[in-house]
Amino acid sequence: MSSPDKCPSCRVAWNEAETIYEHFLRKYDGNHDKAWYTASMYGHSASTPRYFGVNVIGVEVQGKYDGVSYWKCTVCDVTHDRWTLEPVKTLHKVNV
Ligand SMILES: [Zn+2]
Repeated sequence: MSSPDKCPSCRVAWNEAETIYEHFLRKYDGNHDKAWYTASMYGHSASTPRYFGVNVIGVEVQGKYDGVSYWKCTVCDVTHDRWTLEPVKTLHKVNV
């Protein structure tokens, strides 16, 4: 799952401005086919543009959920619940 496009708390961008396709187009010196192929590996398409994340870290909690449970903003340092996007004070504790 990709993160929201901006921080719910401080509103800083959580997506790069350029799409993943534009990123690879620049990297591959304008080679459209190569850039499109590589971007498609990230799920990018004309109808679903994808962006690399910036200013955000996905936090996984082993034993809670197989995937990101929290988004932590590296600018305001607030951690948000992945589903509700509400700020959280403490991460889910796992009893073992
Ligand atoms: Zn923030």
